[in-house]
Amino acid sequence: MTTIKTTCIRCGGIKLTPDDVALELRPGRREGDYRFRCPTCDVPQRKPANPRVVRVLLATGVTFDVVNPDPITEIEITAFAVALEEESDPMRLLTG
Ligand SMILES: [Zn+2]
Repeated sequence: MTTIKTTCIRCGGIKLTPDDVALELRPGRREGDYRFRCPTCDVPQRKPANPRVVRVLLATGVTFDVVNPDPITEIEITAFAVALEEESDPMRLLTG
């Protein structure tokens, strides 16, 4: 079993398995963050992953998500839905 060595803010050096780790990548970037829960103290943590760390984590079989750091907010979705309802020709909103 592959082990991933990292450090816990409480316990210091720890070993994780790929199942313990989730990788978050940014769209179009080769770096991101990785999340894990310390198997010893159970504290969830997040650390930056540079391109080298990302490569190592992916090679060990860690699952990843592509995360948009600037997601559409609930307010924007609501505003768009309201605009759709008020617009008699919704396609006009999309074409500007
Ligand atoms: Zn710990």
